[in-house]
Amino acid sequence: MNAKIAVLAGDGVGREIVPEAVKVLKVVAERHGHTFEFIPGNVGGHAIDKVGVPLPAETLAIAKHSDAVLLGAVGGPKWEGLEYSLRPERALLGLREQLGLYANLRPAKLYPMLADASTLRRDVIEGIDMLVIRELTGGIYFGKPKGIEPLPGGGERGFNTEVYTTEEIRRIAVVAFDAARKRRKKVTSVDKANVLESSELWRRVVTDVHRGYPDVALSHIYVDNCAMQLVRNPRQFDVLLCNNIFGDILSDEAAMLTGSIGMLPSASVGAKVGLFEPIHGSAPDIAGKNIANPIATIASAAMMLSYAFQLDKEAAAIEQAIVKTLELGFRTKDIHAEGMQLVGTVEMGDAIVRNL
Ligand code: ATP
Ligand code: MG
Repeated sequence: MNAKIAVLAGDGVGREIVPEAVKVLKVVAERHGHTFEFIPGNVGGHAIDKVGVPLPAETLAIAKHSDAVLLGAVGGPKWEGLEYSLRPERALLGLREQLGLYANLRPAKLYPMLADASTLRRDVIEGIDMLVIRELTGGIYFGKPKGIEPLPGGGERGFNTEVYTTEEIRRIAVVAFDAARKRRKKVTSVDKANVLESSELWRRVVTDVHRGYPDVALSHIYVDNCAMQLVRNPRQFDVLLCNNIFGDILSDEAAMLTGSIGMLPSASVGAKVGLFEPIHGSAPDIAGKNIANPIATIASAAMMLSYAFQLDKEAAAIEQAIVKTLELGFRTKDIHAEGMQLVGTVEMGDAIVRNL
């Protein structure tokens, strides 16, 4: 296939890890007879330095006219004092909004050979392999009315509203059931239907959408129980379907169970162009030293192949190359343990390419 990929490296370690992912994609394209065109764009603090804004119109146009966006990270101490609309992080919100991305996908998988490096109980974390799906554009983050207002008797009142429409729930449920079909075919929908009306509707619509997916198993769980089950027996979960706020919290909880932040990819999808990026930030403390772990970004490129281009075989090849490289003992500093071979960012990328 032919595909145009917008490459937005951004700031900090983004500038080091994104080229490693591009390197891997180029080899995959060559081996499997695809043509990927890579179009670079400025984003975040880097764009502020060059043209004065975190998300230049040119970058947005590049993203919109691509088939997918590969993003590194944005932000850093250099741009911290700027006013809200000029912050590098605004670029991410702008991209999500402008591309119409309403589903955030965050796989949390424990690579077995890294289990020993974890400080968590091995019998609990072993076998973790789940996908947290978070609704991104609705719920209490955007519901109206909201605000802070003075109370007549003194003091103030702060309030937000949790709102979901049938259509908003339907489309995120479809993403979850479709994703489950690529995996172990099990969806667990998270809500608080014993207390919240928005959750009552959520449960009803998800159950309704499920009728179109008789091959996928659906269960419902209250969010409080889910938080508990995640630390008690996380391997029971395959796809976790969450609203905006529950997904925000549970995706971080799930990520921490698996250890290094440098290993975990993410995808934001829903519209024509999906956005693929590591879950970690620009890591200014280690930027420019060739020590950042590129695996989260390389795994994000694999998600791009699977979710944006339906190239599941090619995505699996990248996954397997990552596993093989880890099995051979290659480790960046963040996941290093005794007896393993310490390598830099570029060397880790090279090793993964060799093991493709
Ligand atoms: P943001 O606000 O952009 O999410 P943050 O301050 O929350 O940023 P990160 O930039 O993700 O956090 O960094 C958190 C910690 O994890 C830092 O100590 C950083 O060095 C480390 N870290 C992040 N990404 C990587 C990576 N790819 N490889 C190794 N260490 C990483
Ligand atoms: Mg952060």
